Amino acid sequence: MSNLDRHPAPHELGGLEQTSAGPVLDLLPGREVLLGESTRVRRLLPTLGRRLVGAWAFVDHYGPDDITASPGMQVPPHPHTGLQTVSWLLEGEVHHRDSLGSDVRFGPGELALMTAGHGIAHSEQSPATHPRFLHGAQLWVALPDAHRETAPTFEHHGTLPGFSSDGASATVLMGSMGGATSPGTAYSPLVAADLDLTAGADVELPLEPDFEYAVLASSGAVEVEGAPLDHGAMLYLGTGRRAVRLRAAVPARVLLLGGEPFEERLVMWWNFVGRSGEEITQYTEQWADQDARFGDVVGYDGPRQEAPPLPPLPLKPRGRTR
Ligand code: MN
Repeated sequence: MSNLDRHPAPHELGGLEQTSAGPVLDLLPGREVLLGESTRVRRLLPTLGRRLVGAWAFVDHYGPDDITASPGMQVPPHPHTGLQTVSWLLEGEVHHRDSLGSDVRFGPGELALMTAGHGIAHSEQSPATHPRFLHGAQLWVALPDAHRETAPTFEHHGTLPGFSSDGASATVLMGSMGGATSPGTAYSPLVAADLDLTAGADVELPLEPDFEYAVLASSGAVEVEGAPLDHGAMLYLGTGRRAVRLRAAVPARVLLLGGEPFEERLVMWWNFVGRSGEEITQYTEQWADQDARFGDVVGYDGPRQEAPPLPPLPLKPRGRTR
């Protein structure tokens, strides 16, 4: 591969050592993480053995949780840099506020896409009056160097394109699949699609051989290329596939993530993506100083989230080397 970037980053040693050169089936069981006081999530990425799938840098899956007697999701204002957040609900409702003045409620089937770029702050809450169940996924996309300082934006797409095939109903969140293209702004070649599978579904989905992929069983259980995948687990598929076969004996939901392997090395810590420990330190200090990089979350009533203590520097670059 030849680098045609006219502004090459100084971290070109970064690379692809974790990207499988061909098809594989690696199970990523995930681990439980406590978010705040009331929300437990399963973290699928990053894990010890796998840190990126394309530009997908972070995958949390939560629920379905009965939040009748609880406040549900309560995430106070916190900052982000160098990434996009993709919020996707299977059940429930989330109220998003950010330092651009966005004040949006979204539900299942709607894409909430926040491009942090240079810097943004946001809060996410279950509304005071909320549906009984909360179930969804929180995904981060690493922005490539050419776009990671872009001005922050928030997009809310109430309807998304999709396609149907052999018992599967697909919704394309990001990128393109099966002739459907998401309106969500992407900054590197990638895809995310939600598959709603009926009992007995047996479907082949078209893939890009140059992409690496992973499949998350967000509801029910499925078979991926003959391998069983239980609720809440993820399967890394590697590269070099033109299709993937999904079968469901029971009704199931699946999240398919893919993208061109991400060559740049990056440092991810707390809610920040940067390229060096020095950058991460700067973002952390700027958040503590209430610097204009992040701004204030309009309309949120309560204290913001403070950064945890910084680990010793230099932080090792997180990513892959070839
Ligand atoms: Mn966030």
